[in-house]
Amino acid sequence: MSLDSAVCSKVLIVGAGIAGYTTAASLAEAGFQDITVVDARPDPTVFEWERAYSLVLYQTGQRLLRSLPKLDELVKREALCQHVRVDAVVAPNGGVSMSSRRPPAGPVYWLLKARMLQVLDKYVRGRHPGVRFITGASVKEVLLPDAPPAGTAPSVRTRVLVAHAADGRDQLLEADLLIASDGSNSVLRTLFSKLGSQVDSEYGTGIYSRPSAATGMRHKGVVLDARPVISPPGAPVQYAEPSVTYTLRGARAGRDPATAFDMMLLPVGAGDRVARRGAITVAAGHALMDVKDTDEALRLFRENFPNLRLEDCVLRAEMHKFVSTTASAFPAVTRPHSLVAHFRHVPRQGGVLFLGDAAHGFPPDSAQGINCALQDVDVLLRLARSAAASGTSTHDLLTAYEAARHGETWTLMELAAVAAPYQYGQSRLGAARAAVSKRVRAALAAVAPGVCSPHVDTLIRQGLTYREVRSRDRRTGAALWVLGGTLLAAPLAAVAAAAAASRCTGDAAV
Ligand SMILES: Cc1cc2nc3c(=O)[nH]c(=O)nc-3n(C[C@H](O)[C@H](O)[C@H](O)COP(=O)(O)OP(=O)(O)OC[C@H]3O[C@@H](n4cnc5c(N)ncnc54)[C@H](O)[C@@H]3O)c2cc1C
Repeated sequence: MSLDSAVCSKVLIVGAGIAGYTTAASLAEAGFQDITVVDARPDPTVFEWERAYSLVLYQTGQRLLRSLPKLDELVKREALCQHVRVDAVVAPNGGVSMSSRRPPAGPVYWLLKARMLQVLDKYVRGRHPGVRFITGASVKEVLLPDAPPAGTAPSVRTRVLVAHAADGRDQLLEADLLIASDGSNSVLRTLFSKLGSQVDSEYGTGIYSRPSAATGMRHKGVVLDARPVISPPGAPVQYAEPSVTYTLRGARAGRDPATAFDMMLLPVGAGDRVARRGAITVAAGHALMDVKDTDEALRLFRENFPNLRLEDCVLRAEMHKFVSTTASAFPAVTRPHSLVAHFRHVPRQGGVLFLGDAAHGFPPDSAQGINCALQDVDVLLRLARSAAASGTSTHDLLTAYEAARHGETWTLMELAAVAAPYQYGQSRLGAARAAVSKRVRAALAAVAPGVCSPHVDTLIRQGLTYREVRSRDRRTGAALWVLGGTLLAAPLAAVAAAAAASRCTGDAAV
């Protein structure tokens, strides 16, 4: 089967992250036969420190894995830490408090990003050997397609120039459909935006961008032993439980913001190979991110986590890797105004479609980046399957994708700003306000579940659409205003009544 083969037989996917790989698998399953994936990295699946972090996948993200034959099974077997259930915070004095956050509906997947990429690579190459990979090549230019000569059957392709890093060679690639999954710093997003009036898109060709509270914060990770000790010296030894994620509060917190830091202990392996990754996120300019000396890094870790028996749970070689890695920075909230674009002079042919971080990039405050990317791909898969069955044109497929994802992805950008914007301790006031809001909303949701809902950060994990989350959040906000107004009005009314009564008494006395 080939979809709409007269108009769209050639698909070019730029970016082999989780979004790009799952798109290749989905389109191949839907019947597209000529698919090429290009990635700037020589090996997109290689374990790199900036991709060593763990991802949380909720019901919404898991749906696509189940839509593709055998993928969920493979992911569970090879990429998943299946045992994580609870969050805990460990204070510098060794006190452990378990989170009372309501667990999300259904099982949560903890995935190691690098491992997930290896699983997807194996899946796509094994199941769809026809998918072609060009690696170590970066897109650098989009060339406008030539208009078809008058009276000829249209067969116009988008042309993209890629540069090979190994030998500096440029290569021209053509596609009927170009898919941009090149991440939060998407080059294709910029190139298409520069084409301006030559491109037609429903909501304009501009790029929306604004900083969030976490933009510019830097993050790095270090691999620890599977079960580091978390108890203070002298106390009975307590190991980190495999089923719990921990936030270790740094002992220097509040004393010196330039050297104090917290560390999250996250699972990063699968099955018996579950290890722990110490994930650290700090403000730009923090000393830890630019330390180049292993001993100096060890000193900073010891100062912040005096209870952690560092020598027992971090290999020196791992600390050396830590200091040799450049920290990554969280992006601004950025997206193209439109998720698809067509060339104005050949309007019913091909075009570009954005998905994943290229379509909606933001800091991982809400743990939704890949969850949303997999929903993009899930929608694309359903549209591609029904287009293949009904013979719908690629142009209509793109239009349907925009209609299905436009509102949801914009709503997520709004929610991402309020879900957990101060979780990295950027602002004490902001974090305190968010904590109060969470408690109040959780209490109200327990008392009046039909009217009030928990905080966005809790709701967003429960498998609802982003628009449903926003609507519940707004309803709760309105209820809070009414409640606040009533609570304020009652004493004011009492004071006014008392004043009126005393005036009456005075009048009577006169
Ligand atoms: C610390 C951290 C924790 C996170 N935790 C979560 C979480 O718990 N849950 C969640 O849902 N999300 C989480 N996220 C977000 C999630 O990781 C991203 O949303 C997701 O990985 C984006 O996938 P992608 O495929 O769209 O982009 P990427 O993974 O960025 O892939 C883009 C690919 O495009 C390639 N590329 C870039 N430019 C070019 C070019 N010019 N030419 C060719 N190739 C190019 C790159 O080499 C790369 O392979 C987290 C992110 C971070 C940083």
